[in-house]
Amino acid sequence: MSQKIVFATGNKNKMAEIRQILGDLSLEIVSMKEAGISVDIVEDGTTFEENALIKAKAVAACCDDIVLADDSGLEIDYLNKEPGIYSARYAGEDTSYEIKNQMLLDRLQGVPRELRTARFVCAIAAVVPGKDPIVVRGTIEGYIGDKPAGENGFGYDPIFYVPDLNCSTAELSPEEKNARSHRGNALRMMRDRLRDVIE
Ligand code: IMP
Repeated sequence: MSQKIVFATGNKNKMAEIRQILGDLSLEIVSMKEAGISVDIVEDGTTFEENALIKAKAVAACCDDIVLADDSGLEIDYLNKEPGIYSARYAGEDTSYEIKNQMLLDRLQGVPRELRTARFVCAIAAVVPGKDPIVVRGTIEGYIGDKPAGENGFGYDPIFYVPDLNCSTAELSPEEKNARSHRGNALRMMRDRLRDVIE
């Protein structure tokens, strides 16, 4: 059995959270870059799960280790779950989040709070040599506020509000956000599923 996990991301912040949550599996966890893997991946799936699995399989083709990959985004119910799997590409990959967030707020102008429901979604796929792939989905439910708030986090965090706290996820500390976030939830689910197959 492989004793290493390669996580298909180059994002340093994600790696810190991944190492923290998957740490107690007692497997070495490395990023794609640390594993010396570089591969162009076309994410042409139609769901978060499909895209995560496409990434994990592409990287797994380059090594014999356990490979994990994630795909995440924001679903706004009033906008038919946009931006969804296109969250990173919404209004163009190079457009700042200040502008993307303002565009979404403009599209929700006048929409009452009860119709502003939204969620962050994170799918994580694992390819484990000799086993069936594992795919999990974590979410955090919330709503789109009237204006951006907070300096922490990234992306859509300033406009995504957590109902029981009435503040945006950009106003939470990284620890507070990780404890309840879509990615944290998906990572905790994946940790439990992996424990079953590797031990
Ligand atoms: P990725 O698949 O994790 O790279 O995320 C895709 C996109 O979804 C990001 O570029 C952000 O636009 C959005 N996103 C995912 N997770 C978060 C989050 O925790 N906060 C804010 N935006 C997020």
